[in-house]
Amino acid sequence: MRTPVMAGNWKMYKTPEETAGFFARFLEQVGNPADREIVICPPFVNIPAAVAATSGSVVRIGGQNLYWKTEGAFTGEVSGPMLRAAGCTHVIVGHSERRQYFSETDETVLARTRAALEAGLTPIVCVGETLEARESGETASVLTRQFQDGIAPLETAQFGQIVIAYEPVWAIGTGRTATPAIAAEAHVTLRRLAASRFGTDPADRVRILYGGSVKPDNIQTLMAEKEIDGVLVGGASLDPVSFATITNA
Ligand code: PEP
Repeated sequence: MRTPVMAGNWKMYKTPEETAGFFARFLEQVGNPADREIVICPPFVNIPAAVAATSGSVVRIGGQNLYWKTEGAFTGEVSGPMLRAAGCTHVIVGHSERRQYFSETDETVLARTRAALEAGLTPIVCVGETLEARESGETASVLTRQFQDGIAPLETAQFGQIVIAYEPVWAIGTGRTATPAIAAEAHVTLRRLAASRFGTDPADRVRILYGGSVKPDNIQTLMAEKEIDGVLVGGASLDPVSFATITNA
């Protein structure tokens, strides 16, 4: 039995004040469920406000990215130990917007994942194909490359600590959601890759989230698919009522 992870990615939205306002409304609607993990990843500057607002609740806070060095002359970067010291438990790695706009590669995804694990953070490692790749029948080969170069070099014990998010790029922020069957097929591909590299037990245990235009009106059908172990939500995680509906699904 894999405990679902319901994660929100706020991207570059909200101020610290808006962060406090969000949690005041969100927390009264979610209670303290023990059967799922709830994670919100706000912009870096909102992490202290988010950690303070969620103290004593089941909600966990994550970063949206990290650098692979612990400290140094790397202007504009934030390290794993810094996120940990600020109260984060999770961090998103390799989001498609990082891959698309900030030159993220499978190799840097691997370096960031290792750095997150060394800092005691749970990395939520994102993979997924573009529309072009899907339409040319290359979904499985893209996922295989992202897995082999970005995840497979981890040690088995490290693999046991990560969460994977399958996020087809064509479904992110577009209103186009993968059907549960499309998501399930990709999740099965990823789980097979995990089994051949790390063995069936670690592959059975790893949580694979779906992300891409998840909304209150499609969460039930997505979560009914046994291959989907939770969701990574962008736009709909910005509204406390929408995200509470999703996390309560
Ligand atoms: C995301 O940012 O990871 C995401 C899936 O965005 P959206 O839910 O808005 O498609």
